[in-house]
Amino acid sequence: MSDGKRKGFSRREVIRGAGAATAMGAASVAMAGTKGKSAVPHPPRAFSRQAEVPGFGKARVVVVGGGWAGLEVARQLKKLKPELNVVLIEKRAMFFSCPLSNLWLVGKLPLDELVHSFADAARNHGYTWLHAAVVDVDRERRVVYTDEGWLTYDYLVLAPGIDYDYGRFGVPDPGEAARLRSMYPAAFKPGSEHLTLKHKLDEFEEGTFLLTVPSGNYRCLPAPYERACMIAGYMKENDIKGKVVLLDSHERPPFRPDGISEAIETLYKDYIEIVPGVRVKGIDASRRTVQTNKGDITFDDASIYPPIRGAKILERTGIAKTDEPGLFANIDPVNYHVIGDERVFVCGDARPMPFVKAGFAANYEAGHVARLITNQMDGKDMGPLQSPGMMCYVAVNADPLQSIAFKISFGMVYDRETGGYVFRQKAQAFVNRSRSFGKANLQWGRSLFNEMFYSTL
Ligand SMILES: Cc1cc2nc3c(=O)[nH]c(=O)nc-3n(C[C@H](O)[C@H](O)[C@H](O)COP(=O)(O)OP(=O)(O)OC[C@H]3O[C@@H](n4cnc5c(N)ncnc54)[C@H](O)[C@@H]3O)c2cc1C
Repeated sequence: MSDGKRKGFSRREVIRGAGAATAMGAASVAMAGTKGKSAVPHPPRAFSRQAEVPGFGKARVVVVGGGWAGLEVARQLKKLKPELNVVLIEKRAMFFSCPLSNLWLVGKLPLDELVHSFADAARNHGYTWLHAAVVDVDRERRVVYTDEGWLTYDYLVLAPGIDYDYGRFGVPDPGEAARLRSMYPAAFKPGSEHLTLKHKLDEFEEGTFLLTVPSGNYRCLPAPYERACMIAGYMKENDIKGKVVLLDSHERPPFRPDGISEAIETLYKDYIEIVPGVRVKGIDASRRTVQTNKGDITFDDASIYPPIRGAKILERTGIAKTDEPGLFANIDPVNYHVIGDERVFVCGDARPMPFVKAGFAANYEAGHVARLITNQMDGKDMGPLQSPGMMCYVAVNADPLQSIAFKISFGMVYDRETGGYVFRQKAQAFVNRSRSFGKANLQWGRSLFNEMFYSTL
């Protein structure tokens, strides 16, 4: 019976019934835990409505976040068990890709390469897209609350990505953080920030364009360097009397920099200045000044990338590791479920494991998490994730026909003794820039867009 047909019942009964109905359909799935439990406490008025999603009486897996991880979890779940009722909840109206966005930023790739429709993805793969923001989760009763209403789940996957933490960047005041975010957006979360950054570049006439690299395992390690190269290429091509100043909190970049260093030295010597070991102590947005351990640094325009943290919904739902500044998810690193709750999984950049926070890792890992869930439904065990084949291309030349990139590849493996992941092999950097890597870079993105949005199962 679909949830929606239970009209005439009290809301309390509906919520109980919905939990049971989604669980009963799948023989191998244990009963959803709503039975025999006390009533769902009255949620705030805005959430007392049931979300418009199909019931079908099948086990329901709710996936939160339609990024590189969530889209792939939803797709893989339907591939592995077509009978599942999979609901993807995403708050954005459309998908915008961060990967390849640095090429688009300097006008070398059309916007429609990066922008895709969640409705297409859902239709082509047979799941439901609920266009809503998740505001809370009752894990005891397995209810997700969204700004479009509530829904129950048998399994829940959170793939909400990251948020910024300006507090760890010497900007504790929320008003000042908001100001920085709108004046000098980081553009490391998909969407409007990228558009603003592009408009800034379009209008940039001369002077210093400042970029920052935060500390820790920030999202996409080479991306700030890739962006510096793209902006430098843009200045060079358009005879702009400007320079990119990249303030890196690391003494050395946290990845094999050989290829990028070579490209900067050869192509952009007069256009990029890298300042290593910079600790940002504060930022004065109106005076366009960054206060650092190396003195005050002024700029004409900027894109300021602060430290990152796990998306706020993790903290809101009691799933964040609150004893660590990153506030990433408190999950079992082998089985990906929340510690103490085998019905709730977290993957993608919100994970606490030391994998690179990259789309290819999130996408690869998502298939593993989908299998963990379907295996758990079938009562089968699975081993740890074997190295999320880490390899990425970094574009360093803005010429579309050359689109030069190079490749870094490395992997991690689970070490039972330490209970953590260790590097399987030393990072290998392919320092020779080549057109074939440039083409492979585009090919990589396009094939994943095709899989996530357009291919049919
Ligand atoms: C400039 C740039 C270049 C990059 N280049 C590369 C590259 O070349 N190769 C590569 O592999 N990676 C690259 N990356 C990294 C890649 O974009 C991320 O690692 C990847 O997006 C992580 O996927 P995710 O699904 O974990 O998070 P995201 O893609 O950020 O998706 C999370 C989704 O969750 C949604 N969400 C969050 N909270 C809620 C809520 N409460 N309710 C509903 N929805 C919610 C968000 O709206 C978002 O759509 C790049 C990143 C940047 C910024």
